[in-house]
Amino acid sequence: MTAFGFQIDETDLGTSARCGRWTTPHGEVQTPAFMPVGTLATVKGLMPDQLREVGVQMLLGNTYHLALRPGAEVVAELGGLHSFMGWNGPILTDSGGFQVFSLARLTRIDDRQVVFRSHIDGNLFELSPEEAVRIQELLGADCIMCLDECPPHDAPAERLREAVDRTTLWAARSREAQRRDDQALFGIVQGGTDRGLRERSAEGLLRLDFPGYAVGGLSVGEESEAMYRTLDWTVPLLPADRPRYLMGVGRPIDLIEAVLRGIDLFDCVMPTRNGRNAMAFTSTGPMRLRNARFQRDERPLDADCHCPTCRQFSRGYLRHLFVSGEMLGPILLSLHNIAYYQTLLADLRTAIRQNRAREFHAAYLC
Ligand SMILES: [Zn+2]
Repeated sequence: MTAFGFQIDETDLGTSARCGRWTTPHGEVQTPAFMPVGTLATVKGLMPDQLREVGVQMLLGNTYHLALRPGAEVVAELGGLHSFMGWNGPILTDSGGFQVFSLARLTRIDDRQVVFRSHIDGNLFELSPEEAVRIQELLGADCIMCLDECPPHDAPAERLREAVDRTTLWAARSREAQRRDDQALFGIVQGGTDRGLRERSAEGLLRLDFPGYAVGGLSVGEESEAMYRTLDWTVPLLPADRPRYLMGVGRPIDLIEAVLRGIDLFDCVMPTRNGRNAMAFTSTGPMRLRNARFQRDERPLDADCHCPTCRQFSRGYLRHLFVSGEMLGPILLSLHNIAYYQTLLADLRTAIRQNRAREFHAAYLC
C-alpha cells in the first residue's frame, strides 16, 4: 500500500473523539470529515470549485449507479473518476451492495454472488466481490469498499448472522481480488443492532487486516438510540490507528454522536437531497423555504453562515425560486447545506483539539 497514511493528532480527553489527517493519493483529509454524495459522478447541481469553496475535502461516488450508467469501462477510458468528473481531490466509492439490496430488484443471492435487475431497464446483472473490486479499480477512487450484504434492519437474527458470515467471506475474496496498490480497500462491519453479531463481524474482518474499516447497516430505519448503542459496542472493536467510516449517516446530531464515539468519516445524501426539497439546515434549526412566512423575509438563510448562498441572497428570494420551480433554488440550498455540514465538522475538529467535544455536543442540543 503506497501513498496512504493515517495520523491521529489529537484525542479528546472526555470522549472517544479524535482529530486526524488521512493521506490519500489525491491529497490529505482532515478528520473527522463529511463526504457529500456524488451518486452519478456529480454532486447534483454543483461544480467542483463550489464544493471546494465551502470546505469539501473528499467526495463519494456510487459504484452501482456508475456501473449501470455510463459503465465503469467508459469512466476508465475517460481517464477515471477524478478526471471524468473534474474533481482532483480524494474520492471514495461504495461497493454497490447497498443499492443492489435497496434499489434494484434482487433475484438471487448465494455465497458466490448476488444477481439483480437494474432499476433503470430491468436488465439482469451479477455482482460478485471480485466484480465489485474490478469495477472500483476501473473507476479509480482513492478508497474502495468490499461488497457486503445489507439485510433489512428488522431481518430475523438467523438472516443477520448469515449476512455477517457472507460479508466476511466476501471481504476475504475482495482482498484477494485487489490488483491496484493505490486504492485503500475497507472492510465493512455488519450485524444490525445485535452486539454479538457486530463482534463476530469485526473479529472476522480484523483478521484480514484492512487499512480502514466501515460500519455499515445503520441508519436503515432503526431508532437513533439503537444506532448510538451499536456504535458504543462496535467502534471500540476497530483498530484505533485506522480510519473508521460510518456509512450513510446522517443528521447533524448523528454525526456529532458518532464523532464522540470515535468515527472519522461520513457520507450522506441528506444535505443535498433536503436542499433540493427546499429544506435548509441552519444554526437555529431546520427551515422549510417554501413556507409563506419567508415571502418578504430579507434576511440571509443563516446569519452565522458564510457560504455564497447566505452572502448574496435573501430568504424571500430563495422562497421565490422554489415556488417558481427555478433550478437555482435547489442549487443554492444544496450548496448552503453542504457548507453547513462542512462547518459543523470543522467546528467539531476545533472542539476536539481543545478537549471540548462534550461541551460542543451539549451546546448543539440546546
Ligand atoms: Zn449558507
